[in-house]
Amino acid sequence: MKVWAVANQKGGVAKTTTTVALGGLLAGWGFRVLLVDMDPHGSMTSYFRYDPDNIDTSVYNLFQANAEKQPLRVESLICDTGTEGLSLLPASLGQATLDRQAGKLNGMGLILKGGLKQLEDEYDYVLIDCPPLLGVLLINALAACDQLIIPVQTEFLALKGLDRMTHTLKMVLKARHRPLPYLVVPSMYDQRTRAAQDSLKVLRQNYAEHLWPGVIPVDTKLRDASKSGLTPAEFAPRSRAVIAYGALLEYLLRHTGQELASAEQDT
Ligand code: ADP
Ligand code: MG
Repeated sequence: MKVWAVANQKGGVAKTTTTVALGGLLAGWGFRVLLVDMDPHGSMTSYFRYDPDNIDTSVYNLFQANAEKQPLRVESLICDTGTEGLSLLPASLGQATLDRQAGKLNGMGLILKGGLKQLEDEYDYVLIDCPPLLGVLLINALAACDQLIIPVQTEFLALKGLDRMTHTLKMVLKARHRPLPYLVVPSMYDQRTRAAQDSLKVLRQNYAEHLWPGVIPVDTKLRDASKSGLTPAEFAPRSRAVIAYGALLEYLLRHTGQELASAEQDT
């Protein structure tokens, strides 16, 4: 089981979209995929028509069971997405209170990692959608994953967010006992604008070795897909954005040691 986290300490940079797009493609290629919604706002949970304000099983239960030292079958928290091969561990609003409780509880950084261990034989890929705030949820995601994906909107203000994110990463890596490869993904790229072209240049200069060579273009089909509740791959398989996400996924599979050929043989 491979665990990928999608994170950036800036909102609105396509974290949730990237998580759903990659998860949907992986499921379509025949992998068993779990999406985990760590963001208390629950955008990914809402995407699949669940209400984060009013849901019985979520990531929050995992933290609660841990605090109360109660045993928990993580599988019992998982919901269907309507897409074959794609499951969801949803978010609930209660997750927003976890940072207040964190002071009292030691070792709260490894709860997600521990929970996912139970699912090791159930899924090929776990994709974690992260909150933009640095807190116990983001720390858990960074501790649980073996690959980090950082979407960056191609505009100047967003580049500052990326600097903050890599600073956080350096801090977190000190507490981790294994390396964490990360890939910066230029998102919502509008080639007609000067700002997009210029910020891509800056990314290439400053993050060369961590930068995915492609871009995810601006594509309104992604917004339409989110309204439909279908993954982008199902809603608009031939759209420019889905084709770009497909290229990103192939790149990730190649660079994380997974044979793309075996995925195609499965389907
Ligand atoms: P985050 O999770 O980082 O806050 P989202 O994934 O929710 O960001 O994306 C923010 C908004 O931008 C959403 O409305 C989403 O549909 C839209 N969006 C994301 N990627 C693209 C894209 N490539 N083209 C057009 N709209 C996009
Ligand atoms: Mg989001």
